[in-house]
Amino acid sequence: MTGVDDILQLDRAYVWHPCTQMKDHEQQPPLEIVRGCGALLFDAAGRRYIDGISSWWVNLLGHAHPRLTRVLQEQAATLEQVIFAGFTHAPGARLAARLCAAAPGGYAKVFYADCGSAAVEVALKMSFQFWQQTGQPRKRRFVSVRGAYHGETLGALSLGGLALYREKFAPLLLDTLMVPGPDCFRCPFQKARATCAAECFAPMQAALDAHAADVAGVFIEPLVQCANGMNMYSPVYLQKLAAACAAAGVHLIADEIAVGFGRTGTLFASEQAGIAPDLLCLSKGLTGGYMPFAAVLVRDAQMFDAFYGEYSEMKAFYHSHSYTGNPMACRLALETMDILTAEALPALPVRIAALQRVLASLAGLAHVGETRQCGFIGAIELVAARAGKRAYPPEQRIGWQVYRAALRRGAILRPLGDVLYFLTPLTIPLELLEELGAIARDSIREVTER
Ligand SMILES: *Cc1c(COP(=O)(O)O)cnc(C)c1O
Repeated sequence: MTGVDDILQLDRAYVWHPCTQMKDHEQQPPLEIVRGCGALLFDAAGRRYIDGISSWWVNLLGHAHPRLTRVLQEQAATLEQVIFAGFTHAPGARLAARLCAAAPGGYAKVFYADCGSAAVEVALKMSFQFWQQTGQPRKRRFVSVRGAYHGETLGALSLGGLALYREKFAPLLLDTLMVPGPDCFRCPFQKARATCAAECFAPMQAALDAHAADVAGVFIEPLVQCANGMNMYSPVYLQKLAAACAAAGVHLIADEIAVGFGRTGTLFASEQAGIAPDLLCLSKGLTGGYMPFAAVLVRDAQMFDAFYGEYSEMKAFYHSHSYTGNPMACRLALETMDILTAEALPALPVRIAALQRVLASLAGLAHVGETRQCGFIGAIELVAARAGKRAYPPEQRIGWQVYRAALRRGAILRPLGDVLYFLTPLTIPLELLEELGAIARDSIREVTER
C-alpha cells in the first residue's frame, strides 16, 4: 500500500528534481499528480488543477487524449522500437514525408532526435560539417541573440543567452557570437510593437557583416523567446534575418521547439514571417506531449547532398541517439498532426480571441506592466511600478509567490521571473480559460496589492 505520504517520502529521499532549488521543497513539497484529463491535472488528494503551462510547454491537445492514447497502445503492441540505422518503419517514413510537406515552402529531409536539446545539437553539427565538406572550413562559429534559450546540453547552452542557465558553465562552452536581439517591452529604440521596423536588427547585421566568413549559422526562436519571459517580437526581424543570412551565406536555423505546432496560431511560427529557415528544429508538442521526441527539418537537398557519397569518403553524418526515430513517437506525431490540422487549428481563432479578452481583463491591474500575446501564447509582465516599468527586486520572488497563490486556487501558472504566462493545451475549453484568467487575477492581486 502506498499513500500520498509514502510517495512524498520516497521522493524526498531519492529524487533530485530538474531546475529546482531542492530546499524550496521544505516549504512547498512537490505536488503528486495521479492523473490528467484534457486541460486538467488531478493530485493524489483529488484536487484539480488547470494546466496553464501545458506541463512545461509540451502538452498540445490535452492530457490522456483518447486518439493519442489509442495509437500509442496500438504501436506499443506492434513495434515499440527498432534500430533506425539500416532499418526503417512506416511511422518514421510517413512522418518525415508529412513534415517535409507541411513545413513552409516544403522541405527535403528529416533527421530525428529524442529531445529538444538533442535537435539543437544535430543542427549545430550538421551546419558545421556542411561547411567543412563544402570548401569553407573556416565557417565554424554560431551566432545567437541575447535572451535566447536553445536547451541545456553544452552545445545548446553555448547558444543560450540566459545567465541563470549559462553563467556557471561558461568555461565549458563553445565560442559563440551573442548579439543583442529584440527586447520589445523595454525597447531601446522607443518603438511601439505594432509599428516597429525591427530597428533592433542592426547589431545582428553588424555581426554578420564583420564575421560572415567565420560563421556557420544563426540560431533564432521565431516570434517568441519563450524562456526569456515570453519575449515576443515582430516578424519583420525574422524577414531581415532571413535576407541577411542568405546574403552572408550562413545557415538560418529556426528553433521552433517551443513555438512550433500551432502555438503561435499557425503550424509553424516561421510561416508568419514568410521565411523558410535552412534548418528547423521541432520537439515538445511534436508528440502531443506524450513522449520525448524531436526532428530537424532540412530545407534544401543541397545540404543533404554535401553528406552523400562513397562510404570511403567519410562524408556521412555520424550522429545517433539510441532511440532515434522511435516508432511510438513517430506514430504519435502523425496522429498529432492529423488532430492539429483537422480540428485544433481550425478551432484556435476562437480561443485566441478568448485569450485576448482574458489578457485585456488583467491589463489594468496596478502592477501589470504589460500584457502581450502571440497566437495562443499570452503573457503578463509584473512590475513594482508602472512608471518607468520598474522591475521588482528578484529576491522578492513575486512571480514565485503568484505561482503558489494560483496553485492554492487550482491552477498551474509557473512564471518566468516576474512574467506570468498562459500556454495551455490548444484545446482548452473556453470556461477553463476564463477560470484560469480569474485565478491569475486573484493571485496577482493577492501578492501585489496587499
Ligand atoms: C525546451 C526548449 C529546448 C530544449 O528542449 P528539451 O527537450 O527540453 O531539451 C530548446 N529550445 C527551445 C526554444 C525550448 O523551448
